[in-house]
Amino acid sequence: MASSQPERENAGLSRVPVFFGEEIFTSQYTILRKLGQGSNAKVMLAQHRLTGVPVAVKVLMREMPWHQSAVSEVDILMTISHPNIVSLLQVIETEKNIYLIMEVAEGQQLFRHVCEVGHLQEKEARGLFHQIIGAVGYCHDHGIVHRDLKPDNIIVDRSGRVKIIDFGLGVKVRPGKLLERPGGAFQFGAPEFFLGVPYDGPKADIWTLGVLLFFMVTGTFPFSAPTLSELWKQVVQGRYEVPNQLSEELQGLIRYLLTVNPSRRPTVKEIERHSWLRHESASAHNKETIPSLPDPAIMAAMANIGFDIRDIRDALLHRRFDETMASYCLLHHQACQDHGRSAQPYLRDTEGTHFTSPTDPVSFPLPLRRRASEPALQTILPSTKNQRLEIVRQPRPRGDRSATEQDNPLCFYSWHVLGTAHLCGIGVPHIYSPTSSQGNTENKKKALPNEPGHGESAASRSGQQSDWKAWARRIGQHLWKVCCCTEETSGMAEQGVTPGMRGQNE
Ligand code: ADP
Ligand code: MG
Repeated sequence: MASSQPERENAGLSRVPVFFGEEIFTSQYTILRKLGQGSNAKVMLAQHRLTGVPVAVKVLMREMPWHQSAVSEVDILMTISHPNIVSLLQVIETEKNIYLIMEVAEGQQLFRHVCEVGHLQEKEARGLFHQIIGAVGYCHDHGIVHRDLKPDNIIVDRSGRVKIIDFGLGVKVRPGKLLERPGGAFQFGAPEFFLGVPYDGPKADIWTLGVLLFFMVTGTFPFSAPTLSELWKQVVQGRYEVPNQLSEELQGLIRYLLTVNPSRRPTVKEIERHSWLRHESASAHNKETIPSLPDPAIMAAMANIGFDIRDIRDALLHRRFDETMASYCLLHHQACQDHGRSAQPYLRDTEGTHFTSPTDPVSFPLPLRRRASEPALQTILPSTKNQRLEIVRQPRPRGDRSATEQDNPLCFYSWHVLGTAHLCGIGVPHIYSPTSSQGNTENKKKALPNEPGHGESAASRSGQQSDWKAWARRIGQHLWKVCCCTEETSGMAEQGVTPGMRGQNE
């Protein structure tokens, strides 16, 4: 398997030069409390200071050996947009951390939900499973394998709406290309993981869905053994018992999913046609209040406090995952929540400067630690070819061990049952077709930025920021081309970790 491409892809965030202290995060968000703790990351509930809208913030520490999985997670979340997959709103990198600002997935972990009731009735399980396979099918269609579809990575709200979270073990894979390193929890691992052979990523997800469905309707796992070698035998030989109180159709589907031979295991499309699922209505949970065009009221409100209209359009068009895009999405969400009570987006604390930028001395008073030879902003760029966002790759500093991190010792799967009282869902708008991007990029200003002075108005400062950002983007684009930007490398790559591990790439 060629390794150069995944290595380049995996190097993403670690190669981005980091200039910011934690202020860049705390000036935009206030941490409220912990939402959850995964095996690798803490997820906090925070409030967007400008809008007051709550967000989930996954804090990934740079120093941890598995921080490379953040690269994969960010890359995947930037690519996808599905109502049953948690939306990424913004990525902030500081010296110590990578903050993934996401919508808050309402509800609680599916694991906890099932444990509370013992097991789900078939009707409820069918509704949830249908949404899950819809989202997984979307991922597979986009060349993404999740690899960790366990019930604590699925959040369910009171109305039965599903959100899949945690793409930390996700990989991008070209059609037909086999993966080598297995990933995910042992109880959910496919036989091919245990056999250590190259495997078809989507088919491994299907097996995991079989274990998940079994768990949903029985509250137990099909494979559980006190030792790994015993578990190995059970999984590789496909030794499990489907309780016969389940309907015959459901028993049949579980057996279909838990087919030991991956080439005989069904695809998502085949699962959707199965008789147990056939009558489930497709769209009950899939409606999203995503605007087809940017909302003029939101644009006007943002312009009023210093955002540049063209910059907002550009942020949405190119899905820049910066503060402008996050502010728009959160305001849009807020307006939707108001449901006509108020057409005006509500902005908090507009006297303070919330649209922080390193060029703004008011909101970011600390001196930047930047070498003159480096661009002054971690730049997230769209690929002009496929409209997908990319992160500017920088040469790795000497002594950076990230590409050669040693594996973690095997750690067994453990459940994390943590309280979550969530608030609301937020969709990242897809407001333009990729083909509309051409004209918009022409709007980018060409002037180099001036240093901001203290007596400037918010409007002129904002103009300078947008100039400066355009300048930073252009530099970034050149660097990107020089470093590693080919259509190939910005396309499909794969990353992965061994079972129960993080930080090792395919
Ligand atoms: P890890 O990669 O370490 O497993 P996760 O992304 O799974 O971390 O997050 C850990 C826990 O935090 C989840 O199981 C869930 O309870 C909570 N959580 C994560 N993301 C969100 C979110 N967007 N909204 C609400 N809760 C979340
Ligand atoms: Mg998790």
